[in-house]
Amino acid sequence: MGAAVAAQEVREAFAGLYGAEPDGVWAAPGRVNLIGEHTDYNDGFVMPFALPHQALAAVSRRADGRLRLHSSDIEGGVAELRLDDLVPESDESWTAYPAGVVWALREAGHPVTGADIHLTSTVPTGAGLSSSAAIEVVVALALNDLYELGLQRWQLARLCQRAENVYVGAPTGIMDQTASACCEEGHALFLDTRDLSQKQIPLDLAAEGMRLLVVDTQVKHSHSTGEYGKRREGCEKGAALLGVDALRDVPFAGLDAALARLGDEEEVRRLVRHVVTEDARVERVVALLEAGDTRAIGPVLTEGHASLRDDFRVSCPELDLVVDTAVAHGALGARMTGGGFGGSAIVLTDITEVDTLTKAIGEAFAAAGHTAPRVFEAVPSPGARRLV
Ligand code: ADP
Ligand code: MG
Repeated sequence: MGAAVAAQEVREAFAGLYGAEPDGVWAAPGRVNLIGEHTDYNDGFVMPFALPHQALAAVSRRADGRLRLHSSDIEGGVAELRLDDLVPESDESWTAYPAGVVWALREAGHPVTGADIHLTSTVPTGAGLSSSAAIEVVVALALNDLYELGLQRWQLARLCQRAENVYVGAPTGIMDQTASACCEEGHALFLDTRDLSQKQIPLDLAAEGMRLLVVDTQVKHSHSTGEYGKRREGCEKGAALLGVDALRDVPFAGLDAALARLGDEEEVRRLVRHVVTEDARVERVVALLEAGDTRAIGPVLTEGHASLRDDFRVSCPELDLVVDTAVAHGALGARMTGGGFGGSAIVLTDITEVDTLTKAIGEAFAAAGHTAPRVFEAVPSPGARRLV
């Protein structure tokens, strides 16, 4: 569907719900992370790009302290909230994401006095592709424009992260929101999560006869949230034992010495090894892409998967099956992407091998008795923007 048609549909849906035309329509994408996993809460490097899948929001201002929310993707009607009643961790439904953004803006002193919001999204939820960041960022950008707050993209991302961490109560890093807010079409975003400095890296796989496939395993293992928390704590313990602010401060050249200092803390050693080598892999991928050697990033992706599987231990049988099958059938490289324990994997391949790989992965899943995965091509797409 073209952007103009999609925007028109959300306008009409908004008018049907709220009885007036919206002040505007905004879009914000989901993302896929090319490399740099579990580094964003260690002050490290990540390299996501925006998906063509995006959240759209039709939004109008209100002056009476009320917030009305509706999503075409959720059963149930319009939720109506009062801004003065917004309290962190008081809402377990989807409305916590957009309400949390309004709460974070007001908490930071921005004069938001209410809104009517209608959302719709093509980002699959819970697939590791950041549907939550897409709806946060689309709301933040809309309110930034409508209330003329003058906030920059990275500031909006920070506020959205605060909404998710404090209001929703999910302890996520800064990658997802920054990707949705700051990515550019045709580029991957090399992001330093310590100071949010960014570099747009051109990524035109099609021009070089390659494709990047996203394989959504459609599984989400229920222990993922608890395990995520344990990994974060383990990383913090590693930094404390090594006397650094964050694992980002352990240089790759000093990894062996750092591991030796951790002595018999085997669990922490593995986490440290993943984070330090993963930061180095992001830098290698950036260097390869800037040198025009795109094919050579494949093995770096596969190496990253092994590190997430063996050292960080956040993979699962379904993700390993995608990666092993893809590599065995001629992929240039493959890895899980996102937090792990389900969700999606990415596969870098020559265009000539797309059909063979898709078929092989489908057959491997059927043989293992898993639900059929959804496979689609990811092209670096635009970040958040106003459509109307
Ligand atoms: P993801 O990896 O997709 O970001 P999360 O668990 O972080 O997974 O966020 C998924 C949640 O975000 C959903 O359970 C829902 O509450 C909310 N969400 C995402 N997309 C929509 C939508 N289109 N409408 C309403 N809520 C949504
Ligand atoms: Mg999310």
